[in-house]
Amino acid sequence: MLDFSKLFSIKARSSKEGLHISGAERIVEENKIDETVLKILKKVRRNEADFISIKIEKLKLKPIVVEKTLCIEDIKFNDYKEANRYVLNILKDITGIDKRDLKHLIDLIHNGASPNGENMRGAMIVNQKGERIELNKYRGIRTRNIDFIGRENILKKLQKLGYTERTLDALAISTKNLLNENIIAEYCISDEDNYTTGYLAIKNKYLRITPLKRMGNKFGGRIYFVKNETDIYKLYDYLENCPILIKDVCV
Ligand code: AMP
Repeated sequence: MLDFSKLFSIKARSSKEGLHISGAERIVEENKIDETVLKILKKVRRNEADFISIKIEKLKLKPIVVEKTLCIEDIKFNDYKEANRYVLNILKDITGIDKRDLKHLIDLIHNGASPNGENMRGAMIVNQKGERIELNKYRGIRTRNIDFIGRENILKKLQKLGYTERTLDALAISTKNLLNENIIAEYCISDEDNYTTGYLAIKNKYLRITPLKRMGNKFGGRIYFVKNETDIYKLYDYLENCPILIKDVCV
């Protein structure tokens, strides 16, 4: 049994010449801090990072415990353009944004959505009018304070089915996002040039899509599609600060 009064959040991130490389985060009990720090240090210390930060702090809020992640559906396409057309049709129906505007927003993610032409550090937020409403277009919003109870076992379960730790992390983020009543959908492609699988998360479903981007493209990112009436400050507070622990994956 987890002792909720003794939980700590561990957040690590690395960068090179000011550009973000990698980030990881865990929520663990006090006696797991040391081993967890080593594990996530190994994860973020890559691509000749020249800056690594690790922050450890006791959780101030009691976490919300969620039974299961969104349910994974694995979908394969012949090429990323066909996959994006499929995604565009779903997004058009559930957000009401017209296809041309949606295509423009998704193209931004494939070409560096930050105003400096690089990847954003977090996600873009788009309302149903197709407007970008994140408070900072370089930084975007990062979904934080999320982890699994019994992470190692859940990872093994996913790996047996052919999925990776990446899927686990992405499931955690998208599950927290879609639990929020104002988030309608999330689009994601990785910023690693050789990883072309992406996803579209909608209520209850995680559509894992291969390929969703062009092989060799170093750009990636996320778009959170939200309702027009969303209070942006409340949304930031939920995504950044509300701790969530997930018990199992839905496969
Ligand atoms: P990744 O899934 O780690 O390959 O990240 C792909 C892109 O998603 C990154 O370039 C960021 O723009 C964005 N991103 C990564 N982590 C988060 C997060 N925790 N919350 C929101 N956006 C994120």
